[in-house]
Amino acid sequence: MRNGLPILLYHGVGPPSGRFSVSEAEFARQMDAVVASGRSAQTVGRLAEPRVRGEPMAASAVAITFDDGTADFYDRAWPVLRERGLPATLYVTSGLVGGRHEGTPMLSWQRLEELRDSGLEIGAHSHEHIALDLVPLERAARELVNSKLVLEDRLQVEISGFAYPFGYHTAAVKALAARAGYRSACAVKNALSHPYDDRFALARFMVTAVTPTARIDRLLAGRGARVAPRRELVRTRVWRLYRRARAISVPTA
Ligand SMILES: [Zn+2]
Repeated sequence: MRNGLPILLYHGVGPPSGRFSVSEAEFARQMDAVVASGRSAQTVGRLAEPRVRGEPMAASAVAITFDDGTADFYDRAWPVLRERGLPATLYVTSGLVGGRHEGTPMLSWQRLEELRDSGLEIGAHSHEHIALDLVPLERAARELVNSKLVLEDRLQVEISGFAYPFGYHTAAVKALAARAGYRSACAVKNALSHPYDDRFALARFMVTAVTPTARIDRLLAGRGARVAPRRELVRTRVWRLYRRARAISVPTA
Protein backbone atom coordinates (compact mmCIF):
# COMPACT_ATOMS: atom_id res chain seq x y z
CA MET A 1 0.00 0.00 0.00
CA ARG A 2 1.41 3.39 -0.95
CA ASN A 3 1.02 6.53 1.07
CA GLY A 4 -2.12 7.84 -0.62
CA LEU A 5 -5.43 7.63 1.18
CA PRO A 6 -8.82 7.91 -0.47
CA ILE A 7 -11.40 10.55 0.43
CA LEU A 8 -14.35 9.53 -1.71
CA LEU A 9 -16.82 12.16 -2.92
CA TYR A 10 -20.40 11.27 -3.80
CA HIS A 11 -23.38 13.38 -4.80
CA GLY A 12 -26.63 11.44 -5.18
CA VAL A 13 -27.44 7.77 -4.71
CA GLY A 14 -30.40 6.30 -6.57
CA PRO A 15 -32.04 6.62 -9.96
CA PRO A 16 -29.73 8.51 -12.28
CA SER A 17 -30.25 12.24 -12.10
CA GLY A 18 -27.46 13.44 -14.29
CA ARG A 19 -24.08 11.76 -14.45
CA PHE A 20 -23.28 12.15 -10.77
CA SER A 21 -25.74 9.71 -9.21
CA VAL A 22 -24.49 6.24 -8.29
CA SER A 23 -27.10 3.45 -8.23
CA GLU A 24 -28.08 2.02 -4.85
CA ALA A 25 -26.70 -1.43 -5.74
CA GLU A 26 -23.40 0.02 -6.92
CA PHE A 27 -23.12 2.20 -3.82
CA ALA A 28 -23.73 -0.83 -1.57
CA ARG A 29 -21.03 -2.80 -3.46
CA GLN A 30 -18.60 0.09 -3.09
CA MET A 31 -19.27 0.36 0.64
CA ASP A 32 -18.73 -3.42 0.95
CA ALA A 33 -15.37 -2.84 -0.75
CA VAL A 34 -14.56 -0.15 1.83
CA VAL A 35 -15.29 -2.60 4.65
CA ALA A 36 -13.33 -5.40 2.94
CA SER A 37 -10.32 -3.12 2.42
CA GLY A 38 -9.57 -3.12 6.14
CA ARG A 39 -9.07 0.64 6.09
CA SER A 40 -10.47 2.56 9.03
CA ALA A 41 -13.33 4.75 7.87
CA GLN A 42 -13.26 8.17 9.52
CA THR A 43 -15.16 11.40 9.30
CA VAL A 44 -13.13 14.15 7.64
CA GLY A 45 -13.14 16.01 10.96
CA ARG A 46 -11.42 13.14 12.71
CA LEU A 47 -9.14 12.35 9.76
CA ALA A 48 -7.90 15.94 9.40
CA GLU A 49 -7.53 16.68 13.12
CA PRO A 50 -3.82 15.69 13.29
CA ARG A 51 -3.11 18.21 10.49
CA VAL A 52 -4.15 21.03 12.88
CA ARG A 53 -1.09 20.08 14.94
CA GLY A 54 1.08 19.59 11.86
CA GLU A 55 0.93 15.82 12.19
CA PRO A 56 0.05 13.46 9.31
CA MET A 57 -3.34 11.96 8.63
CA ALA A 58 -3.60 8.20 9.09
CA ALA A 59 -2.40 6.64 5.83
CA SER A 60 -4.57 3.59 6.58
CA ALA A 61 -7.80 5.63 6.72
CA VAL A 62 -10.59 6.25 4.22
CA ALA A 63 -13.28 8.92 4.32
CA ILE A 64 -16.68 8.90 2.65
CA THR A 65 -18.11 12.31 1.82
CA PHE A 66 -21.24 13.64 0.16
CA ASP A 67 -21.73 17.12 -1.27
CA ASP A 68 -24.85 19.28 -1.59
CA GLY A 69 -27.37 17.68 0.83
CA THR A 70 -29.87 16.14 -1.58
CA ALA A 71 -32.90 14.37 -0.07
CA ASP A 72 -31.91 10.94 -1.42
CA PHE A 73 -29.04 10.82 1.08
CA TYR A 74 -31.47 10.08 3.91
CA ASP A 75 -33.34 7.27 2.12
CA ARG A 76 -30.64 5.65 0.02
CA ALA A 77 -27.14 6.42 1.24
CA TRP A 78 -27.36 6.65 5.02
CA PRO A 79 -29.06 3.23 5.49
CA VAL A 80 -26.26 1.55 3.51
CA LEU A 81 -23.61 3.36 5.57
CA ARG A 82 -25.29 2.62 8.90
CA GLU A 83 -25.76 -1.06 8.11
CA ARG A 84 -22.00 -1.31 7.69
CA GLY A 85 -21.13 0.96 10.61
CA LEU A 86 -19.38 3.42 8.29
CA PRO A 87 -19.06 7.04 9.40
CA ALA A 88 -19.47 9.73 6.76
CA THR A 89 -19.40 13.48 6.26
CA LEU A 90 -22.19 15.35 4.48
CA TYR A 91 -21.49 18.89 3.23
CA VAL A 92 -24.73 20.84 3.15
CA THR A 93 -25.54 23.94 1.10
CA SER A 94 -27.28 25.91 3.86
CA GLY A 95 -29.40 28.16 1.63
CA LEU A 96 -30.95 25.21 -0.19
CA VAL A 97 -32.15 23.18 2.82
CA GLY A 98 -35.79 22.18 2.41
CA GLY A 99 -35.91 23.44 -1.17
CA ARG A 100 -34.93 22.18 -4.59
CA HIS A 101 -31.70 22.59 -6.51
CA GLU A 102 -31.86 22.25 -10.28
CA GLY A 103 -35.03 20.19 -9.84
CA THR A 104 -33.59 17.87 -7.17
CA PRO A 105 -35.26 17.90 -3.74
CA MET A 106 -32.94 18.77 -0.87
CA LEU A 107 -32.90 17.50 2.73
CA SER A 108 -35.15 19.31 5.22
CA TRP A 109 -33.97 20.65 8.59
CA GLN A 110 -35.88 17.86 10.31
CA ARG A 111 -34.03 15.21 8.31
CA LEU A 112 -30.71 16.92 9.02
CA GLU A 113 -31.51 16.85 12.74
CA GLU A 114 -32.23 13.13 12.53
CA LEU A 115 -29.00 12.52 10.64
CA ARG A 116 -27.06 14.59 13.16
CA ASP A 117 -28.56 12.52 15.98
CA SER A 118 -27.65 9.26 14.29
CA GLY A 119 -23.97 10.16 14.10
CA LEU A 120 -23.47 11.73 10.67
CA GLU A 121 -20.85 14.48 10.54
CA ILE A 122 -22.30 17.58 8.91
CA GLY A 123 -20.14 20.20 7.23
CA ALA A 124 -20.87 23.32 5.20
CA HIS A 125 -20.89 23.64 1.41
CA SER A 126 -21.50 27.42 1.13
CA HIS A 127 -24.88 29.14 1.39
CA GLU A 128 -25.78 29.54 -2.28
CA HIS A 129 -23.53 27.03 -4.01
CA ILE A 130 -21.44 29.46 -6.04
CA ALA A 131 -17.87 29.11 -7.32
CA LEU A 132 -15.93 30.92 -4.58
CA ASP A 133 -12.86 31.53 -6.75
CA LEU A 134 -14.79 33.72 -9.21
CA VAL A 135 -16.58 36.13 -6.87
CA PRO A 136 -15.17 39.10 -4.93
CA LEU A 137 -13.51 38.03 -1.70
CA GLU A 138 -16.14 39.72 0.48
CA ARG A 139 -18.80 37.60 -1.21
CA ALA A 140 -16.73 34.43 -0.74
CA ALA A 141 -16.23 35.35 2.92
CA ARG A 142 -19.99 35.81 3.37
CA GLU A 143 -20.65 32.37 1.86
CA LEU A 144 -18.10 30.74 4.16
CA VAL A 145 -19.28 32.51 7.31
CA ASN A 146 -23.03 32.42 6.68
CA SER A 147 -23.21 28.72 5.87
CA LYS A 148 -21.37 27.93 9.12
CA LEU A 149 -23.59 30.23 11.19
CA VAL A 150 -26.87 29.07 9.65
CA LEU A 151 -26.04 25.38 10.10
CA GLU A 152 -24.74 25.87 13.64
CA ASP A 153 -27.77 27.94 14.59
CA ARG A 154 -30.27 25.39 13.26
CA LEU A 155 -28.44 22.19 14.20
CA GLN A 156 -26.77 23.32 17.44
CA VAL A 157 -23.50 21.55 16.66
CA GLU A 158 -20.13 22.96 15.72
CA ILE A 159 -19.59 22.92 11.96
CA SER A 160 -15.85 22.48 11.59
CA GLY A 161 -15.55 21.31 7.98
CA PHE A 162 -16.21 22.93 4.63
CA ALA A 163 -16.29 21.65 1.05
CA TYR A 164 -15.75 24.20 -1.73
CA PRO A 165 -18.61 24.15 -4.28
CA PHE A 166 -17.28 22.35 -7.39
CA GLY A 167 -14.01 22.07 -5.45
CA TYR A 168 -13.03 25.55 -6.68
CA HIS A 169 -10.77 27.57 -4.41
CA THR A 170 -7.73 29.85 -4.42
CA ALA A 171 -5.08 30.63 -1.81
CA ALA A 172 -7.17 33.64 -0.75
CA VAL A 173 -10.33 31.55 -0.42
CA LYS A 174 -8.44 28.97 1.66
CA ALA A 175 -7.28 31.75 3.99
CA LEU A 176 -10.89 32.92 4.34
CA ALA A 177 -11.99 29.38 5.23
CA ALA A 178 -9.40 29.33 8.02
CA ARG A 179 -10.51 32.77 9.20
CA ALA A 180 -14.14 31.70 9.24
CA GLY A 181 -13.17 29.14 11.88
CA TYR A 182 -13.13 25.92 9.87
CA ARG A 183 -10.53 23.33 10.73
CA SER A 184 -10.55 21.63 7.34
CA ALA A 185 -11.85 22.16 3.82
CA CYS A 186 -12.24 19.69 0.97
CA ALA A 187 -11.40 20.28 -2.68
CA VAL A 188 -11.86 17.70 -5.46
CA LYS A 189 -8.67 17.01 -7.51
CA ASN A 190 -9.64 13.38 -8.36
CA ALA A 191 -6.57 12.17 -6.57
CA LEU A 192 -5.65 10.29 -3.44
CA SER A 193 -4.93 12.49 -0.46
CA HIS A 194 -1.42 12.64 0.98
CA PRO A 195 -1.01 12.16 4.76
CA TYR A 196 0.50 15.67 4.82
CA ASP A 197 -2.18 17.10 2.50
CA ASP A 198 -3.16 20.76 2.90
CA ARG A 199 -6.04 20.62 5.40
CA PHE A 200 -7.70 23.56 3.61
CA ALA A 201 -7.57 21.82 0.22
CA LEU A 202 -7.96 18.12 0.93
CA ALA A 203 -7.90 16.03 -2.23
CA ARG A 204 -11.00 13.96 -2.93
CA PHE A 205 -11.86 11.48 -5.66
CA MET A 206 -15.29 12.03 -7.23
CA VAL A 207 -17.28 8.82 -7.73
CA THR A 208 -19.94 8.98 -10.46
CA ALA A 209 -22.28 6.61 -12.29
CA VAL A 210 -19.45 5.68 -14.64
CA THR A 211 -16.86 4.87 -11.96
CA PRO A 212 -16.36 1.08 -11.93
CA THR A 213 -16.20 -0.58 -8.52
CA ALA A 214 -12.83 -2.05 -9.61
CA ARG A 215 -11.53 1.53 -9.60
CA ILE A 216 -12.73 1.94 -6.01
CA ASP A 217 -10.88 -1.26 -5.11
CA ARG A 218 -7.68 0.18 -6.57
CA LEU A 219 -8.12 3.47 -4.74
CA LEU A 220 -8.65 1.58 -1.50
CA ALA A 221 -5.37 -0.20 -2.18
CA GLY A 222 -3.73 3.23 -2.49
CA ARG A 223 -3.41 2.91 -6.27
CA GLY A 224 -5.39 3.91 -9.37
CA ALA A 225 -4.91 7.69 -9.02
CA ARG A 226 -2.04 10.04 -8.37
CA VAL A 227 -1.35 11.20 -4.83
CA ALA A 228 -2.22 14.90 -4.66
CA PRO A 229 0.79 17.18 -4.89
CA ARG A 230 0.86 19.84 -2.25
CA ARG A 231 1.09 22.53 -4.90
CA GLU A 232 -1.67 23.38 -7.34
CA LEU A 233 -1.28 21.94 -10.82
CA VAL A 234 -0.63 24.32 -13.71
CA ARG A 235 -3.65 22.74 -15.43
CA THR A 236 -5.86 23.81 -12.51
CA ARG A 237 -4.60 27.39 -12.75
CA VAL A 238 -5.16 27.55 -16.51
CA TRP A 239 -8.71 26.21 -16.12
CA ARG A 240 -9.46 28.88 -13.50
CA LEU A 241 -8.18 31.65 -15.80
CA TYR A 242 -10.43 30.31 -18.55
CA ARG A 243 -13.49 30.18 -16.29
CA ARG A 244 -12.71 33.67 -14.97
CA ALA A 245 -12.46 35.09 -18.50
CA ARG A 246 -15.72 33.42 -19.45
CA ALA A 247 -17.46 34.70 -16.31
CA ILE A 248 -16.41 38.25 -17.22
CA SER A 249 -17.35 38.10 -20.90
CA VAL A 250 -20.61 36.14 -20.70
CA PRO A 251 -23.15 37.67 -18.32
CA THR A 252 -25.37 34.97 -16.83
CA ALA A 253 -29.03 35.46 -16.10
ZN1 LIG B 1 -21.86 20.92 -4.66
